[in-house]
Amino acid sequence: MAAKGTITIDAVRCKGCTYCTDACPYHLIEMGKQINSFGYQTAVYIDADRRCTACTLCAITCPDVAIDVYKKKG
Ligand code: SF4
Ligand code: SF4
Repeated sequence: MAAKGTITIDAVRCKGCTYCTDACPYHLIEMGKQINSFGYQTAVYIDADRRCTACTLCAITCPDVAIDVYKKKG
């Protein structure tokens, strides 16, 4: 099944608060191992089963406006 949405996470803006990992109903966001230039562990989007619905909950939750949500056609 094709995903209805996808997101990008700006690793430079991310402050590692983990709010987005709790916000996603499908647990598509995890804390990664990468440390950004400000020393924060950053969130990563992992959607191997293409479950993102573009609900925007993650983006709304992010206090640092690091997440962009894109809707897919079809
Ligand atoms: S848009 Fe919704 S389903 Fe997609 S990653 Fe964000 S919270 Fe999860
Ligand atoms: S909510 Fe935003 S700042 Fe917090 S971990 Fe997720 S992407 Fe990073």
